[in-house]
Amino acid sequence: MTSIKAIAPTRTVDSEFFWDSCRDGRLMLPRCMDCQRLFYYPRNACPHCGSQKLGWHEASGKGTVHSFTHVHVSFYGPEWEQQLPYTPILVDLAEGPRMLSRLVGDDRGEVRIGEHVEVVFVPADKDRIPYFRRSQLTHGTV
Ligand SMILES: [Zn+2]
Repeated sequence: MTSIKAIAPTRTVDSEFFWDSCRDGRLMLPRCMDCQRLFYYPRNACPHCGSQKLGWHEASGKGTVHSFTHVHVSFYGPEWEQQLPYTPILVDLAEGPRMLSRLVGDDRGEVRIGEHVEVVFVPADKDRIPYFRRSQLTHGTV
């Protein structure tokens, strides 16, 4: 795999636990303790019912590709020019929430909608970013 130049996340009070868990190689999703639904991204209230009684659920790290694009031109200035080319991806996690991330791997140009992907944690400064790669078990089967 070619090297990945990920940009470190901006931590907030609501995302601190999420990023700490990624550092440990675990993908944690916020769970509403009132309506029990999972969601992504971490925030201070449930997007479904507005409750602020929130907990966490460890996700499997598996999902399917909802959509993707390949980016070859920087829209965000010099810092992002170092990121090119990259592949933003919308992943429907096995647990339900849809997650914006990035597809990595030398074979990412062959990705198809509906294909299975799995999380991989990519170092960025002191943090690790949850990106995805094509699942090794399902190449060519979608
Ligand atoms: Zn809720």
